[in-house]
Amino acid sequence: MDAYTELSRIAATLRRRAEAQLALGIPLSRSTGPSPFAQSSIPEEGSVASDNSGQGFLNMPGEENPFASLAHEELAQKASGCTRCDLCHTRTNVAFGSGSPDADLMFVGEAPDHDEDLQGLPFVGRAGQLLTKIIEAMQLTRDDVYICNVLKCRPPENRNPLVDEIEACKPYLARQIELVKPRIIVGLGTFGAQFLLNSQERISRLRGRFHEREGIQIMPTYHPAFLLRNASSKRDVWEDMQLVMAELERLKTADA
Ligand code: SF4
Repeated sequence: MDAYTELSRIAATLRRRAEAQLALGIPLSRSTGPSPFAQSSIPEEGSVASDNSGQGFLNMPGEENPFASLAHEELAQKASGCTRCDLCHTRTNVAFGSGSPDADLMFVGEAPDHDEDLQGLPFVGRAGQLLTKIIEAMQLTRDDVYICNVLKCRPPENRNPLVDEIEACKPYLARQIELVKPRIIVGLGTFGAQFLLNSQERISRLRGRFHEREGIQIMPTYHPAFLLRNASSKRDVWEDMQLVMAELERLKTADA
């Protein structure tokens, strides 16, 4: 590729990214002010139950996944009638997962919300619509990626997941990851990121860089529900997603 063609390609990429950034409502010029998370007036998103074990999905030493032999459809079927924890008594529907089971990119959030519980699909409410915009800004569609939550059933009143619920539900996510084999997982929000990384660190300290877990690159970032309340953090998420896009591109080039 000659220099002119290469520059044209870079210019077109930058233009597309600028358009995507504007579509998310993020101005093109970066504020020179301090990070909003250096200001105590802006709360850290979410909170994790103090008794959270922090057990990551890849940390199942000595445990055998009861769903290890199930294919994706069988796993979804199993989840749809699951009674492994008490959330089965309060849920309307199980929101197992959506998107491509062959995706290179997976998004993992905390748990279904009101709309997800009603529809039986992850990320379909207001926060889900914002996630869709973010995915589209990445020049992808929801069908190109895989989307799910740590918990498949909604906790009443959206309370924090309990340790026994996490433990009961963990084999589903572990098997989903085994089956989808994503190259990159975006951990959405404090809970999703801390769970994936087996960490108690604040999301504001985890985000902005990849963390490798057993060959999978994990990018923590803010949850779309947090962005609905803190629009200034959209820029941070967009920066994280640009790192994800660049890594996906790098992996694709390395495969070619
Ligand atoms: S949250 Fe998970 S473990 Fe609990 S009932 Fe739903 S699918 Fe089963």
